[in-house]
Amino acid sequence: MNMPTEQAVMMTAEENAHAQKAASLQSDPTLRARLVEAGILIETGENGLYGRSEVFEDVIERLNKVITLLGADQRAEVLRFPPAMRRHDFEDSEYLKSFPDLAGTIHAFQGNDRGHHRLLEALDKTLAVGDAERSDEWMDQQKPTRLVLTPAACYPVYPLIARRGPLAGDGAIVDVFAYCFRHEPSLDPSRMQMFRMREYIRVGSPAQVMAFRQKWIARGSLLVNLLQLPFEIDLANDPFFGRGGKIVADSQREQQLKFELLVPVATPDKPTACLSFNYHMEHFGEIWNIRQADDSLAHTACVGFGMERTTLALFRHHGLDVAQWPAPVRALLWGDAAPVIAEGLAGLGAQA
Ligand code: AMP
Ligand code: ZN
Repeated sequence: MNMPTEQAVMMTAEENAHAQKAASLQSDPTLRARLVEAGILIETGENGLYGRSEVFEDVIERLNKVITLLGADQRAEVLRFPPAMRRHDFEDSEYLKSFPDLAGTIHAFQGNDRGHHRLLEALDKTLAVGDAERSDEWMDQQKPTRLVLTPAACYPVYPLIARRGPLAGDGAIVDVFAYCFRHEPSLDPSRMQMFRMREYIRVGSPAQVMAFRQKWIARGSLLVNLLQLPFEIDLANDPFFGRGGKIVADSQREQQLKFELLVPVATPDKPTACLSFNYHMEHFGEIWNIRQADDSLAHTACVGFGMERTTLALFRHHGLDVAQWPAPVRALLWGDAAPVIAEGLAGLGAQA
């Protein structure tokens, strides 16, 4: 007798589940405003440059520890660099060929008393305009330093490995973590100008490097599954600059050199790359003359974890109150993650 009602209730529950699933796959364009309002991200007045609250940093640190557990068996060499690198190495890297628009250089005053006077005069003029659009005239007194901002955490590693001479037979694996700079101001909270990248870098034979990348596509997927985030892995390309850029990007795709793990975060209709899996072939090996044990050119690959992006994805999908995040996610980040990771890796079988 009450069949129709029950059916209606069941239908509603099913529809609800569908609606919930659809919602979980969507980005949230209000995320930036909600995070700022909650004090989790702190605006500085410049797009893409934020302060981070205690809770945001706490999640980043915990996530970083889980990534360490995921890669512990590799016995990677742990290296930490400041967010700047030698301009000399940067010039060699060919970054300016591909991404001149993203690079950030570091300038400093290197003049005498007369120069100092000119600097302060120009600065007075700048300040006189108040809060309106300011001129950058005082910067005429600034000169390039020998440093540039690091564009990707792995960049300082290749020249260092090269300077050490030929690789051992099993190549090298390095673990880095650094703030990176890219000049891409945006209102999308996941497109920052300064953000952190954790990376594992593999240097060795093509077979070693390809196996590493496959392994990390599986391990990255495991991590994001454990974080209960919806994702897909997709072939990708870097944003190469200019008219020639399209050709380079097409060729990168054709050769399947870059994959990304994408999660819906804040941009409408477009998921965000939270992890990248890059195969550079012998590009860096050739630039810096990195040699394998048998003297052939080394190949390189890296897996990059976008720390802010993954953290933002967690806030997007699990809410702004970390105490309310799903129990398994809380257990992973705030509990003992080691057995969970061990079990996850065992589940990957040969892929791990
Ligand atoms: P890529 O070197 O471009 O593959 O970047 C490595 C990882 O860094 C990406 O997968 C992102 O998660 C992260 N990333 C790249 N650009 C930005 C950005 N502008 N803001 C925040 N994270 C970024
Ligand atoms: Zn890299």
